[in-house]
Amino acid sequence: MADRFFCFACGRDHRAGSGLGRDHKRYSIEGGHESGGIFSDLREFYLQTKGIAAAFRILGFENVRVHPPRFGRGWPSPAAIEKAYRTRARRHHPDAGGDPHEFRKVQWAVEVLRRYRPPDA
Ligand SMILES: [Zn+2]
Repeated sequence: MADRFFCFACGRDHRAGSGLGRDHKRYSIEGGHESGGIFSDLREFYLQTKGIAAAFRILGFENVRVHPPRFGRGWPSPAAIEKAYRTRARRHHPDAGGDPHEFRKVQWAVEVLRRYRPPDA
């Protein structure tokens, strides 16, 4: 897994040397110095299109399809999201012998869903 990294923009794993990986790394929250301006806008774009769908997959909401991702109907309830998060966080927690990479994905996913779930969805 050393040549792969988890993309905080679109929620997938990319190969470090790939064009897509390089591209998205610039928008990633972990991209560091390149924050603000166009990078923030592009990161928002990726989060609100691909990122939300990826977050649903990571938390096991395989059948959830929300279109448009941010404002569409069909979001799981906040309680269902938190429950899915707790279950997976326990399973992947590094202190319990889990994979830190998987754990980070789960944390990322719940943050995305908490942030973008419309209050009245
Ligand atoms: Zn990406």
